Amino acid sequence: MLVVLKKVIATLILLPLALLLFTASSTQLAFAVYTFETVNNFVYEAEPVIESELEPSIETYEPARATPVIARLSDPATALEYIELQPFFKFTSPTERAQNTVPPRYKIALTFDDGPSRYTSYILDILYQYNSKATFFVLGNRVEDWAETIYIAAQQGNEVVGHSWNHRNFANLTNYEIRSQIYNTSAAIAEVLGRPSAPIFRPPYGVINQNIRYVARDLGYTVVNWSIDPQDWLHRCADHIYNFIMENAVHGSIVVLHDTRESTKEAMVRAIPSLIEQGFELVTVSEILEHLFGELKPGALYQGLR
Ligand SMILES: [Zn+2]
Repeated sequence: MLVVLKKVIATLILLPLALLLFTASSTQLAFAVYTFETVNNFVYEAEPVIESELEPSIETYEPARATPVIARLSDPATALEYIELQPFFKFTSPTERAQNTVPPRYKIALTFDDGPSRYTSYILDILYQYNSKATFFVLGNRVEDWAETIYIAAQQGNEVVGHSWNHRNFANLTNYEIRSQIYNTSAAIAEVLGRPSAPIFRPPYGVINQNIRYVARDLGYTVVNWSIDPQDWLHRCADHIYNFIMENAVHGSIVVLHDTRESTKEAMVRAIPSLIEQGFELVTVSEILEHLFGELKPGALYQGLR
C-alpha cells in the first residue's frame, strides 16, 4: 500500500511535468538533465531522449522550460518502474553513472621513470581499475628481472619504453655509448614484449644536447621529457605529489614520476581517480603526442603542455 501511495505521489509530480514539457512546441533540443532523488539518496539522472527517437506526432519540449527538476521517489526500483516515461526520459542509475561519468575532455600522460620496481605492479593495478594508461620509461638493466611486470604493463595497454640502460648521464658519454644505451634497452624490452615499442626514449635527468639529438635522429627516435614535475624523488610525500599534479594538470600535460617510490604509489591512489573526475583521460605518451603534434620527428624533443 505504501509503495502504491508513493507511486501515486510520484506520478502526480512526474506526469504533469512530462505533459508540460511535451505540449510546448519547439523543434529545438534541450540538454537539461532531470534528477530523480530517492529517499535513500540514490540519485537517478534522466535525460530527455533526442527528437528523432520520439513519435513523429509528439512535439518536442521547449528548452526554456526544460529546467532541472527534483522529484522524490521511494527507491531506485520504483524510479525504474516509470517505464511509461521511457519514450521521453532515459534513466541512468548511480552504478551506470559511476562507470560512465563525464566524457573526458582532456588528455594527460603520466610517466614513470627508473623502474620497474616492487611498486610498479601496484600502480598497474590502479591504472587497470580506472581503465587508464600510462608510460613506463624503464632502465634496460632492470628489464630481465622485471620481465613479467613489463609484459603485464603492456598487456594492459600501457607503453613501455627506454630510459637508458643504467641511468648514466648521456652528456658524459660518446655517441657510440649513447647509441648503445638507447638501442640495447629497446632491444631488451622488445624481447620481453615480442614486438618493438614506440621509437621514443627519455634520457636520464632529462639531459639533452646536440649529440643526443643527433644519435636519436640517426636511430629514428624521438626524445620525450615532461611538462609537469612534482619532484617526487625529492619530496617523498604523497600529499605534495598529489597536490602538485592536481594544481598543474592541463590538457596535453606529460607528468614525470618514479615508480620506485612508495609515496608516488600512494599519491596515485588519489591522483588517478581525481584526474578522471576532473575530465582527464589518462593516455600513453605516444597517444598524447600524436594527438597534439601528429607525426613525430626523429631527433626532436617533446615535453608536453603546461
Ligand atoms: Zn631517471
